[in-house]
Amino acid sequence: MSQFYMVIDVAKCHDCNNCFMACKDEFVGNDWPGYTAAQPRHGQRWMNILRRERGQYSRNDVAFLSMPCQHCENAPCEKAGNGAVTRRADGIVMIDMEKAKGNEALAKSCPYGAIYYNEEIKCAQKCTGCAHLLDSKEWTPKQPRCSHTCPTGAMQFFDITPAEMEKKVQEEGLQAYKAELGTKPRVLYKNLQKFTKNFIAAGVLVKGDCFENATVTCKGAGVEATQKTNFFGDFKFDGLENGEYTLEVDAAGKKASCTVTIADESKNLGYIQL
Ligand code: SF4
Ligand code: SF4
Repeated sequence: MSQFYMVIDVAKCHDCNNCFMACKDEFVGNDWPGYTAAQPRHGQRWMNILRRERGQYSRNDVAFLSMPCQHCENAPCEKAGNGAVTRRADGIVMIDMEKAKGNEALAKSCPYGAIYYNEEIKCAQKCTGCAHLLDSKEWTPKQPRCSHTCPTGAMQFFDITPAEMEKKVQEEGLQAYKAELGTKPRVLYKNLQKFTKNFIAAGVLVKGDCFENATVTCKGAGVEATQKTNFFGDFKFDGLENGEYTLEVDAAGKKASCTVTIADESKNLGYIQL
């Protein structure tokens, strides 16, 4: 049977908040009986867009991680729900608004912070994957509002079998956010390293001028990679784990090397002068 999956490409997300607003439009002030009570106007971010800045000026970047409920196969919220949290046949994780009443602990059980407690109705709430729309014959796009509205194609919905999804995961290098939690999310990310890992970047100057096509090798922490500097003499090794790295630069026979430690922060080394 086909299942609910989302794929979000961190490299294509520009924090436009269209997905966030579409979610608000669908759920604020709208009860969807059998699915969820209305989302309050303020205080809940069923589509939460996280932000991380890396590096230092002028070699810095910013990545955005759009994070709805991950619809985990091994969901901690299910255990905390005491029967109020269930998984549909298509994999969407739902909270029963009647059974969950008064269970504040449920809101704190999600390691992704995807559940919110609605004080007015005394009930935990979260993203439903727009299940009411997926079940409706009238909503022909047949996808959640968030992915439907994403202008860059960063967020995509898939209604495919687990085997088809596994093939996608392998072919496209998709990853779970916080995979170490073992929650087995149905929302998977492309280019996740832009949010979770770090880079080393610098420019190569020879006699004060940017040097294009210098060979730069980066070794350490399981990495051995080589790049050519670009037109501006710049290079950037991305997706690095914490650890110590050796950089070797060869600019038409002029050589330099240095050691760089990455500890939860990207490094702009400035210029390497030869
Ligand atoms: S992301 Fe949180 S709320 Fe969603 S299924 Fe996983 S544990 Fe439950
Ligand atoms: S709509 Fe798409 S590009 Fe805009 S914030 Fe959401 S995921 Fe990112």
